[in-house]
Amino acid sequence: FQRLSTRLSKTKESLVHRMDTLFLGRKEIDADLFDELEEILITADLGINTTMELLDDARRNVKRNALSDPQELKIVLKEKLRSFLMESDQPAELVRPESGPFVIMVVGVNGVGKTTTIGKITKKFKQAGQSVLLVAADTFRAAAVAQLKIWGERNDVTVVHQQEGADPSAVAFDAIDLAVAKEYDVVIVDTAGRLHTQVNLMEELKKIKRVMGKRLEGAPHEILLVLDATTGQNAVSQAKLFNDAVGITGLALTKLDGTAKGGIVACICRELSIPIRFIGIGEQIDDLRDFNPDDFINALFG
Ligand code: GDP
Repeated sequence: FQRLSTRLSKTKESLVHRMDTLFLGRKEIDADLFDELEEILITADLGINTTMELLDDARRNVKRNALSDPQELKIVLKEKLRSFLMESDQPAELVRPESGPFVIMVVGVNGVGKTTTIGKITKKFKQAGQSVLLVAADTFRAAAVAQLKIWGERNDVTVVHQQEGADPSAVAFDAIDLAVAKEYDVVIVDTAGRLHTQVNLMEELKKIKRVMGKRLEGAPHEILLVLDATTGQNAVSQAKLFNDAVGITGLALTKLDGTAKGGIVACICRELSIPIRFIGIGEQIDDLRDFNPDDFINALFG
């Protein structure tokens, strides 16, 4: 918990400490206070809608004299922020099939931390005593396959790959075949994330999904979208784009350790009805946490 709190220090600084400073010694609530709060929340990447929702309620209460003490306002805002995280679909456990391999298809734009996150998740499953098969379905970039192999070696698991330029859905199909035959517990499929040919990419992802479902009913059981928290509101747009194309069932939010934009978590919980499964708080293999709203808020405000 202490580690989580330390890793979130930049967001703590930008959101919590700035709020604390703003409220310090204040005797009354005025329009200026709300303007500055708005600025703080938007800077921490809560997004316009979530920020307005958070403040409008308080504004109304001040107007009808139900709220006049600034310190009380501070508490109200923190509690409201907590409720935004708690009332969403969080926390949501991964839903596994009753039998056969649990197939996770991982999608996301290049550079967001997809391969790293796959490496970290693999370690979690292995630690839980599960066998994991990694699948390199980004056949577009040789570097992507090489990266995945490195994480495969670190975790001592097999990485299925074919030659550069192979059909990604064929790679995925063959991998499911192997996983069923060899009774693997978990299959994690890495996919391409090139942004410049978005339409083709989305068609490619749809096909991978479809083909896996043909080989194993219900697969993929999870389509995990990896988002980079440092990109703030951009991450929310990416989520909408991928969700429209393939239907995202869970999110992994990376690089929360390096950013002051951690307010994005509240924005995602409020504006997307997709559960955050994992948060990335560093580059090392153990720097991945199951997302828990209570822990997150306590780490921020504690
Ligand atoms: P991919 O292109 O999406 O597969 O991205 P990579 O997995 O190669 O990661 C891109 C960069 O982000 C690498 O330098 C990773 O070490 C870094 N990275 C990934 N996750 C995290 C995280 O949670 N925190 C930090 N600070 N860096 C991360």
